Amino acid sequence: MPFRLLVANWKMQLDVRESADLARSFRQKWRGFSGAPEVVLCPSHVALAAVHDALGRSSIGLGAQDAFWEAAGSYTGEVSPLTLAELGCRYVIVGHSERRALLGETDVMVAAKAASVSHAGLTPINCVGERQKRGWKRTEEFLRKQLQAALSKRPQRFVVAYEPVWAIGTGIPARPEDVRVVYKILREELVRSCHPGVGRRVPLLYGGSVDANNAKEFIQDPENGGLLVGRAGQALRSLLDLVKIGIG
Ligand code: PEP
Repeated sequence: MPFRLLVANWKMQLDVRESADLARSFRQKWRGFSGAPEVVLCPSHVALAAVHDALGRSSIGLGAQDAFWEAAGSYTGEVSPLTLAELGCRYVIVGHSERRALLGETDVMVAAKAASVSHAGLTPINCVGERQKRGWKRTEEFLRKQLQAALSKRPQRFVVAYEPVWAIGTGIPARPEDVRVVYKILREELVRSCHPGVGRRVPLLYGGSVDANNAKEFIQDPENGGLLVGRAGQALRSLLDLVKIGIG
């Protein structure tokens, strides 16, 4: 079963040279693939230019791990979505649980970021996911609220990544049958909050301890639009294995 989008979040794991090397090696292998999913590499901000050069004219996409909610101004240390567009980014991850937990990002900030990224012509990848395993009722309520909040400023285009926080970096992914239930909830919410034609088409990704050994279980669901990977996207071999699975 092919999937549409593979997003590799390199987090703060690779330095500039390592990021450019991995992008270059990946690009060399990429030439041999046809019918591959859209792949988006998300290095740290400081490595974006080097990775962009390494990707050259290939169709491999570039994404950022975060952006600020304003386009310009006195915001020390922040990065404008317009600058990310200038550097060749197509996507920006917003609301990743590590930023919510470590930097105090709130739903309000995430909504503003999604809107400004979209306004800059880029596609926000909105991360949603419950912090702990809880009963379905509470999980459903939490996810609906988180998604409603993320879309409250009406971004024009976006992707949603379901990433249960307890599954990220733990080696314990969610059960595919549970992800299926979550997709149903998220899809319902998308159709309700957006124009139904739009809500039905928004790609739903899964992320949280996915690797080449378990990826097939997640992409079999017709609602699945792709994968957001951390660890498995940070090395050439496993990245290539995931692309091969994406070809189907
Ligand atoms: C992530 O951080 O978004 C992620 C999915 O990480 P991992 O694949 O390592 O669980």
